[in-house]
Amino acid sequence: MALTPQQQQELRQRILDRRRQLAAELRGDAARSRAEQYGTLAGSTHDSGDESVADLLVDVGQAELNRDLAELRDLEVARMRIDGGTYGTCTDCGAEIGYDRLHANPAAIRCLACQTRHEKTHGGRGTPKL
Ligand SMILES: [Zn+2]
Repeated sequence: MALTPQQQQELRQRILDRRRQLAAELRGDAARSRAEQYGTLAGSTHDSGDESVADLLVDVGQAELNRDLAELRDLEVARMRIDGGTYGTCTDCGAEIGYDRLHANPAAIRCLACQTRHEKTHGGRGTPKL
């Protein structure tokens, strides 16, 4: 069933809210990760054990940052799709994605069946190395 204008409006608001929240988090994370890289964490000691923990924390920070950036990109695509009138349609098969799925994940661009297949083929979000 196609989305009602009311549902579209609601999902659009969710996308905008999430984008704003994510952007605020990213600003905080980026500042923290810069501080970590400039040695507030690793520079205070010369013990190699602590340094590797600091390296690990920076890596985890980077992974989170990358995931947030990917989500932000998805949300941006979703917003453009709403404005372009293609929101809620699966990019792979053209079926309706469905309100329930969009409500849970407003940035979804595929129906559940295509998303499952996509993740099997491409191994999730990571860059496929084929
Ligand atoms: Zn599909």
